[in-house]
Amino acid sequence: MLTAEIIAIGTELLLGEIQDTNTRYLARSLRDLGVNIYRATLVGDNVERIAQVIREAMGRAQIIITSGGLGPTVDDPTRAAVALALGVETEFRPELWEQIQLRFSNYGRPASPNNRRQAWIPAGAIPIRNPVGTAPAFICETVNSCIISLPGVPREMEYLTQTVVIPYLRDRFQLTGTIKARVLHVAGVGESTIDEWIEDLETSSNPTVGLLAHPGQVDIRITAKADTLAEADQMIAQMEARVRERIQEGLYGVDHETLEAVILQLLRDRGLSAVMVGCGLKGALRERMERIHFPASSILELDQTCNAEDLPAKLIEFQKEHHAQIALGINLLTTSEKHLLDITIITPEGTSQCSRSYGGERLLSNLWAVNTGLEMLRRKLVEGQRIS
Ligand code: ATP
Repeated sequence: MLTAEIIAIGTELLLGEIQDTNTRYLARSLRDLGVNIYRATLVGDNVERIAQVIREAMGRAQIIITSGGLGPTVDDPTRAAVALALGVETEFRPELWEQIQLRFSNYGRPASPNNRRQAWIPAGAIPIRNPVGTAPAFICETVNSCIISLPGVPREMEYLTQTVVIPYLRDRFQLTGTIKARVLHVAGVGESTIDEWIEDLETSSNPTVGLLAHPGQVDIRITAKADTLAEADQMIAQMEARVRERIQEGLYGVDHETLEAVILQLLRDRGLSAVMVGCGLKGALRERMERIHFPASSILELDQTCNAEDLPAKLIEFQKEHHAQIALGINLLTTSEKHLLDITIITPEGTSQCSRSYGGERLLSNLWAVNTGLEMLRRKLVEGQRIS
């Protein structure tokens, strides 16, 4: 079975100074090509350690993609590490040196002697021209595998992945397949409940069905592997229909849809305006709603937890002030053991109140409270839509 491994190179990644977004990008690109990925590694700027990681990866995978470490300084170790892993020397490639010099002359300055280092690549490697940066990339082929070394700068890495790496892999490994995923978002229902509803579907091998829990929300990911995109779409649609039959409540959107955006649309559809009051949420409600350009003046965030009995009165006052038809109040009280939540919702159909408790981490409780409150509001709006 064709498998790939990704190796992100850079001490600054290991120190947490920058986030490794390249691995994510490469993983998705490989997934879309239908290539399996079972491992990804982060390794610092050290020739021996990188070579060791590459050698290990070669024992498991046919495609190894590295990112980073191709710059002009002695600290940029990827060229030497790949050569060491393959047991070859690096060799000077005059055509690469010409390209580097040309690129610098386009910038209006000469290439430095350091840049000449970038024209040394492992003996026998296929050079990849890099028209968007100075570091040339390269591919080293062995009988069973290929090592593809790309620059670390995300823009350059992405460009070369799309223009060179994907066409190369399609050709070399006769890749016609594709992997496609669709994510269904559910809120206000616990992971274990959803698990009970779709337990048997989670054992399917293609498409696969997996759960990922977030505070107050669960994602159901359906992933299909097929020869064509149309076939993958059809497999996903069939599985999605089965999942939807089982999900009794809380399914609010798919893929990039968010709870707040769905609520905004429901409000627009019915020509309603809303106000929201958050207490003890540390600004989490405002931050969330402002992302979708919900008017800032319609959100009242109080740092302190309100007295639960006072919340409805506060809400009604704020609602009147704004002549809004809908009001949502979320009040979070944190004690040493748990987090207690009171939600009040006023709609043209009436007022409803409920309480919930959360045993998760303090840091996640605001997110959980906002998701839970927004989901209750969404359900009320959907209910109202049905009635009207
Ligand atoms: P160049 O010579 O074009 O700089 P390079 O291969 O030497 O390429 P690095 O020096 O390793 O690349 O990284 C350059 C920059 O690219 C880093 O400072 C960082 O901002 C970004 N970068 C590197 N690796 C990653 C990664 N895995 N994810 C996100 N950004 C990265």
